[in-house]
Amino acid sequence: MKLADRMRRLGTETAFDVLAKAKALEKQGKKIIHLEIGEPDFDTPLNIKEAAAKAIFAGHTHYVSAAGIPELRQAIAVHVSRTRRIDVDPEEVVVTPGAKPIIFHTILACVNKGEEVMYPNPGFPIYESMINFVGAKPVPIPLKEENDFRLNPEYLKSKLNDKTKLIILNSPSNPTGGVLTWEDLKAIADAVANRKDLLILSDEIYSEIIFDGKHESIASIEGMREKTIILDGFSKTYAMTGWRLGYGVMPKGLCPRVTQLIINSNSCTSAFTQIAGIEALNGPQDKVKEYVEEFKKRREIIVAGLNDIDGITCLRPRGTFYVFPNVTGTAMKSQDLSDRLLEDADVAVLSGTAFGKFGEGYLRISFANSVENINKALVAISKFLEHTN
Ligand code: PLP
Repeated sequence: MKLADRMRRLGTETAFDVLAKAKALEKQGKKIIHLEIGEPDFDTPLNIKEAAAKAIFAGHTHYVSAAGIPELRQAIAVHVSRTRRIDVDPEEVVVTPGAKPIIFHTILACVNKGEEVMYPNPGFPIYESMINFVGAKPVPIPLKEENDFRLNPEYLKSKLNDKTKLIILNSPSNPTGGVLTWEDLKAIADAVANRKDLLILSDEIYSEIIFDGKHESIASIEGMREKTIILDGFSKTYAMTGWRLGYGVMPKGLCPRVTQLIINSNSCTSAFTQIAGIEALNGPQDKVKEYVEEFKKRREIIVAGLNDIDGITCLRPRGTFYVFPNVTGTAMKSQDLSDRLLEDADVAVLSGTAFGKFGEGYLRISFANSVENINKALVAISKFLEHTN
């Protein structure tokens, strides 16, 4: 079949490939410890599930407004206004099936062929995939371990030019767990202050999964609201990955255009899922606190365990449920090491290169798994490296 040329430029998310490989090994009778996929291992809180069930039985099973039901847009506006200390109008909110479509639609709606887009590398692979898909030029901003995996605003500044259309930020960051400080954000804001047509896509999907300090958004800085699209959602915070519910808060002029893309693609987000989202935001938050505390406990275990293994060193991530250990001491390439860990140690992790070329020398390991399984994986990784060295 001859597909459109643009399909050659579209990338993917390796986590799904590794998951499929691991599942195939499980079918052959192997027991794999899953530390590859980016989702909380907790169940969605009961109050949220009950709200969705009630909504289905009440008949909320039809098409609804493309940009989201007014009650959820209102709840999101209140939530984002409070958490980012800004004044969000519900008309600036667009609800989508998962937060990922905000990346897709923003880049489709805003970036022309030949324009430049900066993005973190290592970073969520969909950024680079979509930049290439629309024929724009990807300009990676390296995240370095010696800078706690925070991007260097001076480097970003050095890459800014007349063709720069969009800058993608992601804090807390997948895959590194790095968190941008207020000073970092101020420096980025200063660098783009005079650029009228430049936009920032601020991916804040892990905003609530933060262990040290608090989340800061570039949208909170004076003058940045008008330039910024905040991406957030329910997948990670409320363990709702399979529900597909996310949102963007964007400049008012962009909302109708993104809504038009939604009308052309998925029409709208499921009504009963949106009603569950209202309960998530307005209901009790004790489960979120419990999940974050549990992740924090596991962070200590996995960081200490990895640092005890010869050939591996690991920084403490300030947010997310990922660690990004340096494995250069094993003398293996990241991809080889992750392949061998799956095949010979029954542990599924991702190569750092699944997140871009600056991920070489690292693995991404999710600690969204039980303490028991994390400990088992640490023993298996350690044994594997003892035998290969
Ligand atoms: N942004 C980042 C950095 C992510 O890690 C993910 C999910 O892994 C998303 C966006 C997409 O989230 P969702 O599952 O709500 O589409």
